[in-house]
Parts: sequence; C-alpha cells; structure tokens
Amino acid sequence: MTESHLIATPHERPLRVAVVGAGPAGCYATQALLRSGLDVCVDVIERLPSPHGLVRYGVAPDHWTVKSKALVFDAILADPRVRYLGNVTVGRDLSVVELHRHYDAVLYAYGASGDRRLGIPGEELPGSLSATEFVAWYNAHPDHAGLAPPLGRQARRVAVIGMGNVALDVTRMLVLDPDRLARTDMADYAVDALRQTRVREIHILGRRGPSQAGFTPKELVEVAELPGVELVVDPAALARDQLGPHPDARSARNARRNVELFGQYAAAAGSRRLWGGRRVRVQLHFFVSPVEVLGDDQVNGLHLEHNDLVATGDRLRAAGTGRYTHLDADLLLRSVGYRGTALPGVPFDDRRGVVPSRGGRVTTPTGEPVPGAYTSGWVRRGPSGVIGTNKVDAEETVRALVADAEARALPQAAAPEPTTVDALLAERGVQVVHFADWQRLAKTERLLGSRHHRPAAKFTTWPPPEARRLAV
Ligand code: NAP
Repeated sequence: MTESHLIATPHERPLRVAVVGAGPAGCYATQALLRSGLDVCVDVIERLPSPHGLVRYGVAPDHWTVKSKALVFDAILADPRVRYLGNVTVGRDLSVVELHRHYDAVLYAYGASGDRRLGIPGEELPGSLSATEFVAWYNAHPDHAGLAPPLGRQARRVAVIGMGNVALDVTRMLVLDPDRLARTDMADYAVDALRQTRVREIHILGRRGPSQAGFTPKELVEVAELPGVELVVDPAALARDQLGPHPDARSARNARRNVELFGQYAAAAGSRRLWGGRRVRVQLHFFVSPVEVLGDDQVNGLHLEHNDLVATGDRLRAAGTGRYTHLDADLLLRSVGYRGTALPGVPFDDRRGVVPSRGGRVTTPTGEPVPGAYTSGWVRRGPSGVIGTNKVDAEETVRALVADAEARALPQAAAPEPTTVDALLAERGVQVVHFADWQRLAKTERLLGSRHHRPAAKFTTWPPPEARRLAV
C-alpha cells in the first residue's frame, strides 16, 4: 500500500506506536508498520545506545554477510516517520503504564537477552560460562565486555553443552586463526585473549541423537573444513540414530543432511590432511547429559549420564539410563539457548520465557488480549529461527495491529505528542541517543576500524571517549 492510500485512524493524527527493542525483531516490526498503509509515527525505544541487537552483539564476527543486515535496519530507522530513542530503558526510564499513556499501541520486540540454565551442581563454578555471555563478550557488548573468560594456556580441553548453531559459533571462534578474527569487528580484547589460547580439544555434547542436532549443515561444514580441525564422530552413535518427528520439513531435511555429513566424517576418520591453522580435535558426543560440573575452585570436568530416546508426544525426549561417564574439561561453555526476560507491567510466561500472545496480540494469563499491546520476535515465540524469521513474525503482528486500528479497537493515547515523552526523559536526566548520534558513532567505529583493515572497531562504553576526541 502506498502513502496515497493511507488507512485512516480515528485520531485525526498519525497513529503513535512505540516499538520496544531495536534488534532484528524491532526493526522488521518498524518496517512492517511503515509498509502497512497506516498513517503512523514510530518511536523505536532501545535500552542500549546502539541499535541492531543480535546482529551487532550475537551474530559471529566472521559472518559478515549476516552482519551487513545492519544496513537494512539503519535504512528503516532513518525513515522520517521513525524516531530512534536509544539508551532508554523501559521499566526504569519509562514505565509500561507511561508507554501506554503516550502511544496508541506498544509493540514489545525486546528479544531474549538471558540464558537458559542447566540447573545442575557446579554450574556456577569459575570456568563455566554461558555461551550467550561468551558471544556477547567477543562481540563487544557493553554489559559483557568485562567477562574475562579463562582462555589462558591452561585451557586445553573445552566442553560445549548443546548442539545448536551457537555451539558451533563458539567452537569456530576458539579454532579460527586470530589473524582472521583481527580483520573482523570482534572486540580487540577478545582477539588478544583468543591469541593466547592453546585449546587442543573441543567436546560438543548433545543430549539426544545425531538427527536431533539443532545446528544447520552449512555451519557444520564450516567447522569441519576449518584448517587444522579434525572433526570426530563416533560411528556407534550413528548406528543408534532415529530420525523421529521434526517440527517442519526444513528441520527434517537439515537433520538428514547432518546425518549424511556425520557419516562422511566418521568414515574419513584420521584421513584428513590437516594443513595450517590451529590443530584442534572437535569431537561430537551424542546421547549424553551433564549431571554435575566438577571442580573445587575451577571447572576440571563433567559428570555425564548416558541417555536413551523416548517418544513423548511429537518429540523424541532424552531419558537418563543411570549409566555415567566422566569428561575432563578446563573450560565449559553452556550453549543451551537464550531466554526472554520479564518486563514489569507486561504479562510474562515464566515457564517458556516469552510474552504470552495470540497472533501477535499480547494476552493476559487467562488468554484475554491486552488492548494496544503487541509482540514479535524471540520474546514472542522463543529463541528460534534465523534473522529473517523475525520478518515473517513482524508482518503477522503488524497485520493484527492494523486490523485493530481499522476496527477502531485501539485505545487512544492520553498524551500522544512526541514532545511529552522527550520532556519526561529529559526531566529524568536520560541522555537519549538519537539516530543522528548513532550514525556519528557508527561512522567513528568504521573510521577507527579502517585504520587496521577492519570493518569497524566497536565501542563498549557510552559516550565513547574516542568519539568525543575525534568529533566526526
Ligand atoms: P538451539 O538451536 O535451541 O540449541 C540449543 C541446544 O541446547 C540444543 O541442542 C538443545 O538440545 C540443547 N539443550 C537445551 N537444554 C539442554 C539441557 N538442559 N541439557 C542439555 N542440552 C540442552 O539454540 P542456539 O544454538 O542458542 O541458537 C538459537 C537460535 O539462533 C537458533 O534458531 C539458531 O539456529 C539461531 N542461530 C543461527 C545461526 C546461523 O544461522 N549461523 C547462528 C547462531 C544462532 P535439544 O534439541 O535436545 O533441546
């Protein structure tokens, strides 16, 4: 729909929508709103100074094509109907009640910044890190820049729990040539720390079978073909494999291809010529669950239970057999998934770690839609899918919002003037980062990066001292 065919709103002014979160979910939701035919003004409110969420702080630095989605997001935020309000924390600088006072609709797209827990003894020992924080650390996330993972010379055996794409991302970062990482936008301190590592073995542990590995074949091949990597798969585990049910055809196709690749790697055991790079043995272990992280003042191993698969509804579940084994490890990366967190004043399903919703409309615990409240992305559906999945998700949510606007079912904001939000934030001493500020910051990052043949040198503090000095 073009602007000449705008859908009328009952307010004789553009509809005011707040999108909470400027990651992939928030940016695609904003794009869908701009394309919806509604006469709309969108404020995108982000806790961090910089937008782009997981594209900036989650996608691996060597996946530059995916990272370049940031350009699309910036084009969305640059639209004159959009205001970017960075460095504003909903729940602290603006309450949810205030949001609904200032906007006709609020779309919660703040992602899943927490991590799932294993809930086993020893999980908190030094040397046991969640992969989500490790990823945020090497990506220069301001909240995680001080993590200092113990990657020194003693860390020779690493255990990674979980078989999703994040498990392969962190494995790749430990194996890739640091000179190659130094040409990405990875944080300098992370490149320096990774230069010091002498990791020789990485053990990736899956609680279910080969067909249930959650990573995609492309990412598996990427690790297996790295110079210096010997990927080890136990043929006995392949013999026990069961395809079982999969949520969709794509996931079943990926599983078949993964199993085919595992078979090739198992058959080629020991025959790969390891040229260049770091010599690292990456071993995939299937049908094992960690039951305890071992160590006194530092991780030194894992107590694992062997599993069988049991059919439960539409899923093959891992069930402990009572047979145990031990694995030595100097460092543990728990890569068992992200988890959404609650925002005070917004309904939250604590079991699933999502904002409950139907068709994109936020619902109360009893299933009633909350007027004017919508949700999209990982905080709506849980931490699954690729960046593009959020686009489809956002379009569905915005269709619901448009239908409600057309049906005149949206509550009308009591104080819709943009200046009232600005005044409130100024009164509270919030230093809002606007889109022009962000563009200046991004330009400085690119400039500093270009001096070392890197796409960008990312800041971890706000305001960044270098930006003030360079005054670009
Ligand atoms: P994920 O794909 O959900 O993988 C989580 C893994 O942890 C699964 O193997 C899961 O096993 C396992 N797990 C969960 N709870 C466990 C427990 N208590 N004990 C042992 N294992 C447990 O999550 P992710 O790797 O964090 O990735 C999140 C999303 O981002 C995914 O959709 C992923 O594809 C996407 N992503 C994509 C890329 C890329 O395209 N390159 C890169 C990074 C992330 P079960 O299967 O048995 O539950």
